[in-house]
Amino acid sequence: MDFDYSPAVQALRQRLQEFIDRYVLPYNAAWHRSVSQGVFPPPFMDDLKALAKSEGLWNLFLPGLRGDEPGTRLSNLAYAPLAEIMGRLPWASEVFNCSAPDTGNMELLHLFATPDQYRQWLRPLLEGEIRSAFAMSEPDVASSDPTNLQTRVEKVGEQLVLNGRKWFITGASHPHCKLLIVMCRSADDEAPKHARHSMVLVPLETPGVSLERNIAIMQHHTPEGHCEIVFRDVRVPLANLLGQEGAGFAMAQARLGPGRIHHCMRTIGQCELALAMLCERTLERQVFGKYLADLANVQEWIAESRMEIDQARWLVLHAAWRLDQGQQAQARADVAAIKVVTARLQTRVVNRAMQVFGAMGLSPDTPLAYFWTWGRAMQLLDGPDEVHLRTVARHELDQTRQQRGATAAYFTLPEQLLAEPHIR
Ligand SMILES: Cc1cc2nc3c(=O)[nH]c(=O)nc-3n(C[C@H](O)[C@H](O)[C@H](O)COP(=O)(O)OP(=O)(O)OC[C@H]3O[C@@H](n4cnc5c(N)ncnc54)[C@H](O)[C@@H]3O)c2cc1C
Repeated sequence: MDFDYSPAVQALRQRLQEFIDRYVLPYNAAWHRSVSQGVFPPPFMDDLKALAKSEGLWNLFLPGLRGDEPGTRLSNLAYAPLAEIMGRLPWASEVFNCSAPDTGNMELLHLFATPDQYRQWLRPLLEGEIRSAFAMSEPDVASSDPTNLQTRVEKVGEQLVLNGRKWFITGASHPHCKLLIVMCRSADDEAPKHARHSMVLVPLETPGVSLERNIAIMQHHTPEGHCEIVFRDVRVPLANLLGQEGAGFAMAQARLGPGRIHHCMRTIGQCELALAMLCERTLERQVFGKYLADLANVQEWIAESRMEIDQARWLVLHAAWRLDQGQQAQARADVAAIKVVTARLQTRVVNRAMQVFGAMGLSPDTPLAYFWTWGRAMQLLDGPDEVHLRTVARHELDQTRQQRGATAAYFTLPEQLLAEPHIR
């Protein structure tokens, strides 16, 4: 395992950072002003996207791109440090066509789209002409266990008819969002539990699709939305089924691995920024005749943040490497682990930074309150921590079952007791 960034990745990191410093960050205040005035996306977004595309800083995330598709074809490990850089400025990913949930959706379409679906949806997504959303969670059932999902899809003649209600659907109120990938129940109870659901491609403007509201996350409304959507007798052609009927779960697994690496690295970028802001503040601010940086508890916060961020980054890079190696079973547990580790990291590190900033840390004048909120949301979105912990624990127990008794020789019991059958 060599996790040193290769010269090519180093060069890309530098180009990406320079592009952000030169062209994107100068628009940060204007982006917030525009969004607060209800203009989203801001008028300069298309120009920034065109510039990023012309500079080859486009679709940095998708390893399996074909020769005629725009993008860099980086491995997950190579893309990870770039996601970290983009993560520091939450709206920056859109400039490079690397925003969630489009990245996961493009990944999914890349694997399973028919030629028609490719032409109609994947190509415009790869070109950055449209946005998309992934609709799985439902208000009426515990969506941590997706086998509960109830939104129905039925074949009626040459059409698929959908009925149900989804919520917290990220990206659905983005004005460019044209496509919903909807997880629906397509089979009755006789089918095996994990073969009852299918994915259906639903254009957002289809009659019967009703965007009910954009739900705030801890008082914070994002302009692209976390939306509640109702499907009432929504009719789409049979050809809008994505992949095989009943294969929804298997396909969702394919989508979530790389997407979680991206989330985790963006989080690490935000933690790095929070720590840098914390440190700068402690060197400027004095209390009772001392700089904050000179206080022992503040130094501990700084040291703990540095150590925790570095541990998390190595764990994420290791998970990305495992995905790239095709070690799927182990990668699944690793990806579950990083999802928990980085979400907790973000709330801890950002919390320390907010404390050091005093009241200002809770205001919208710094990005900290938003970062903390996002860290808290990360403990739920893409599955709650407890589900990921269960995946890690099950993997650990499976490993142990395969080597049962391997620890017996390390016991310090007297020999005659060790020989007892219940110990062996
Ligand atoms: C900001 C944000 C964005 C989101 N974006 C999307 C999106 O784009 N598309 C989408 O479909 N969904 C999205 N979601 C929804 C998210 O995926 C769900 O909230 C999540 O899967 C949990 O489902 P639930 O809310 O129904 O909680 P429930 O399933 O009702 O679970 C409640 C609690 O039960 C506990 N629990 C669950 N399972 C276990 C277990 N095995 N062991 C112990 N305890 C357990 C956990 O503490 C959990 O928080 C988003 C959520 C947020 C907050």
